[in-house]
Amino acid sequence: MATEAKLSCRCGEVEGVVTNASPQSVNRVVCYCDDCQAFLHQLGRADLLNAHGGTDVVQVAPASLTFTRGQDRIAGLRLTPKGLFRWHTTCCHTPVGNTLGPALPFVGIVAQTFDTGAQRAEGVFGAPVGAILGKYAIGTAPPGSTGISLDLLFRVITKVLGWRLRGRTWPHPFFHQKTRKPIYPLTVLSNEQREALRPCCGPQPAARA
Ligand SMILES: [Zn+2]
Ligand SMILES: [Zn+2]
Repeated sequence: MATEAKLSCRCGEVEGVVTNASPQSVNRVVCYCDDCQAFLHQLGRADLLNAHGGTDVVQVAPASLTFTRGQDRIAGLRLTPKGLFRWHTTCCHTPVGNTLGPALPFVGIVAQTFDTGAQRAEGVFGAPVGAILGKYAIGTAPPGSTGISLDLLFRVITKVLGWRLRGRTWPHPFFHQKTRKPIYPLTVLSNEQREALRPCCGPQPAARA
């Protein structure tokens, strides 16, 4: 079983590594929410969405993710002033980590970034353990993605609390420990820009990008 997983943006300019990588140490979940869809449309990377608009995300402890190359090509985007920090590369617009900030320590990384060289996300982290927010899915919501799975909720809460208690927040790949400020440049969408993305997104997109 691999204990270290590499990640890479599509063009290879930005690379990183996740330590302690295994199916047990992460939550791999497919998120169908309209914010995740909007983010990928904003980046021009709707190719990363599955057929129902889902984003396949591997949630890891912040301290387990380190960028090893191309840090000058990382930037952040918030869909709203208080939204998730959604980090991506500026070279090929690959998402490299969603996070709420240091207070709730997790980083959600798009699974495809782990498909690099001979390595596959499936081989390192196993299959997704669940799917959430299927009410925004495009077409028929995949089974189990609507409603709330208490098993999944429990698993996520236990993981994030465990990371917090075990000091796995720092060093954080996206925030300075002293100031708690973002390490990389950050853009916040205007209300108009956010609204303009809605026709692309589920559950009933008016336009497919
Ligand atoms: Zn989402
Ligand atoms: Zn790139």
